[in-house]
Amino acid sequence: MSATPIPTPDAPATTPEPRCVLLAEDDPVARMMTARLLKKAGYEVVAVADGGAALEALRARFFPVLLTDWEMPVLDGLGVVSAVREGEWPGYVFTILLTGRDSRESVLAGLEAGADDYLTKPVDEAELLARMKTGWRIAELERRLRAAQREALRLSLTDALTGTSNRRDLIDRLPFEVERARRYKHSLSVVMCDIDHFKGINDSYGHPAGDAVLRAFAALLRSALRHGADWVARYGGEEFVVVLPETDLAGARTVADKLRAATAEMSVAHGNERISLTSSFGVSSVGAHWPEAGVSDALLAQADVCLYQSKQGGRDRVTAQELGA
Ligand code: GH3
Ligand code: MG
Ligand code: MG
Ligand code: MG
Repeated sequence: MSATPIPTPDAPATTPEPRCVLLAEDDPVARMMTARLLKKAGYEVVAVADGGAALEALRARFFPVLLTDWEMPVLDGLGVVSAVREGEWPGYVFTILLTGRDSRESVLAGLEAGADDYLTKPVDEAELLARMKTGWRIAELERRLRAAQREALRLSLTDALTGTSNRRDLIDRLPFEVERARRYKHSLSVVMCDIDHFKGINDSYGHPAGDAVLRAFAALLRSALRHGADWVARYGGEEFVVVLPETDLAGARTVADKLRAATAEMSVAHGNERISLTSSFGVSSVGAHWPEAGVSDALLAQADVCLYQSKQGGRDRVTAQELGA
């Protein structure tokens, strides 16, 4: 089994493969018979012979349904079920305990340990398949709920007009960027961008044209950045913040200069006309020395001061300053 790390709930959604079931059963005949039955019913089955192997298989690949024997070497069914409940997985693992014990106490112990269902041996084939169906229905429902929740979270952190991160995402994530930079003694820069005389664009061409300019500007910012490292957030109306990890003041100034030039060169179609624009930039960096706390607020405030200076200086320009310099 490959040593894939234990998935966390925040791990990217792994689409469950079609109806794959993990079967843990130490008796070779029972294992083969049950696997054959499930395969005939259309399930993909991975069969293992003890509880330890079951957990190992589950760490390597997600299974929405686990069918486990009770008495097994290494780790018994109760142990497997408890470990599944304590672990973190990309989705809910519906567990069915197979047991020769049908006393009330053992059934209660199984459910108490976290089993969702149980079947007593010898297993009735029709009943097993019926309960598998229930398990799948619940696993699928949970998967859809989780996907919907993930999508809702994504939307709550995305700017609807431009598709960039929104201000909330910036405020939430920037402190993490700061802490990572501090830990690895890297520089970190932010570039605050504000379109010049944007109100005039709205006034001259109308609000929908202004929206188109905002989308085009955001697309330009995104396309000019290092994929996967740098990111853009819409900070307010026509203000965006670019976050540049592992980038010092000189590097960030170069990026801002490039963005400034690209903005001045771009234009946005509006009927037969083209709307041209410029933007002003304020750059701030940290890395040379580290204040104790409050760095992300200070970075944004410093970038805002620099942006203001760019506006005062005549717009369509870049002003940059190291934090605390
Ligand atoms: P400056 O060069 O000093 O930045 O001037 P400005 O006109 O760009 O700045 P100001 O803050 O005066 O105006 C910003 C305008 O942006 C005002 C507001 O109506 C407009 N705006 C804010 N959000 C949106 C939006 O989502 N769509 C459109 N079309 N306009 C927006
Ligand atoms: Mg057994
Ligand atoms: Mg503004
Ligand atoms: Mg503006």
